[in-house]
Amino acid sequence: MATTTKKTEATHHSMFDAVLARLDKAAELFGLDPSVAEILRHPKKEVKVSLPIVMDNGSIQVFEGYRTVHSTHLGPSKGGIRYAMDVNDDEVRALAAWMTVKCAIANLPYGGGKGGIKCDPRKMSVGELERLTRAYTRAMADIFGVNKDIPAPDMGTGKREMAWLVDEFNKVTGEDQPGVTTGKPITLGGSRGREAATGRGVMVASLAAMKKIGINHKTATAAVQGFGNVGSHASRLLASKNIKIVAISDHTAAFHNEKGIDIDAALRYVAQNGNMLKGFTGGDEISNNDLITCNVDLLVPAAIQGVITAANAKDIKAKLIVEGANGPTEAEADAILNDKGIVVVPDVLANGGGVTVSYFEWVQNKYGHYWTEDEVNAKHDISMNQAFENVWFNSQQYKTSMRIGAYITALKKLDKAIRYKGNY
Ligand code: NAD
Repeated sequence: MATTTKKTEATHHSMFDAVLARLDKAAELFGLDPSVAEILRHPKKEVKVSLPIVMDNGSIQVFEGYRTVHSTHLGPSKGGIRYAMDVNDDEVRALAAWMTVKCAIANLPYGGGKGGIKCDPRKMSVGELERLTRAYTRAMADIFGVNKDIPAPDMGTGKREMAWLVDEFNKVTGEDQPGVTTGKPITLGGSRGREAATGRGVMVASLAAMKKIGINHKTATAAVQGFGNVGSHASRLLASKNIKIVAISDHTAAFHNEKGIDIDAALRYVAQNGNMLKGFTGGDEISNNDLITCNVDLLVPAAIQGVITAANAKDIKAKLIVEGANGPTEAEADAILNDKGIVVVPDVLANGGGVTVSYFEWVQNKYGHYWTEDEVNAKHDISMNQAFENVWFNSQQYKTSMRIGAYITALKKLDKAIRYKGNY
């Protein structure tokens, strides 16, 4: 089969290019058939919709909504929905491709997808957000489906939005299908353990990595960027393993405390302060960039993409980076971190706990039988540790970073699936 694969240049102007750069590198090391690589370089389906919404003041505002299905080679596409002002087609495409890789690494029977709406949820009322979520669901009703494309929460969305989504989808289809989305409230078929799952996966991956590289977690220090779903649960769970969290942050402020930040106090503070850390008194205020370069064993970026760059990578003092966020490290920074001997547990492995428990939620919905939180957590920990070992093995075998080892782990599976299916 003729191919038109074109390698990406060293500089990347888009998030999707950054995904392709890593995919190309892994494909080359693994010796992937260029025809298979070419298939993975193109998303299967991309949809953009305009959503006119009546705002509370009576005016009409038109929002842009996106959904990209990158791959369905291993199963129905799976991936969250993001509400943020910088949502765009390139970002959604990159996030969808990452989901393909992430689901393959986590050994789930899923392909990859992602969606988003360009909006600022912090500036919208609950009523406006509900109308927007329902309009988006109606517009995507042909795309979504229990065995087709299964959304979940991401930045700016949570169980409330998933409840509206499942309710609207069921109204459109006239059937009760809780498994059309995951991350639902428990009363509507959500799974116990889902809300904390991504943070839990970050904790499990951090402990596994510390064991491999000889860091004693009982005397280790950590800095966590982001105090939302991923960052707050990761901080809490890392602290529960006696790791001293010396720095935390969100979009409003960052704090440092050499003696360790009282995470329970920070959780109580944000709960009473509109989900914002600004004004917290449990540490000295620093900048978000100071947090990235502060003196710790473990750095957990768990907020937004592109925070570890060619400019600040050289100043990073952590021995281990565990990527809670998607895409926190720019492709140009990878080589600098490698040269410094910093071990990076990549996003596609480290934050796979969320989609793993999403899969458990979907299984429970199909099964109509629900597990206890302990059962969910135990199954999650086994799955995350297995995924970690597979990636570690491949990175050792191919003498490469864990990031490229993770892509190779995914490519091995995707290559087989694409060949078996004969996608021509
Ligand atoms: P969230 O909306 O719950 O929280 C985001 C956090 O990041 C907030 O504390 C916010 O204040 C902070 N933040 C935003 N901009 C910032 C900035 N410029 N500097 C510092 N902090 C900033 O989102 P989330 O669900 O925790 O997602 C965080 C990251 O994890 C995203 O990259 C997301 O794609 C990824 N992720 C989330 C899940 C999940 O299950 N929620 C799963 C996998 C990956």
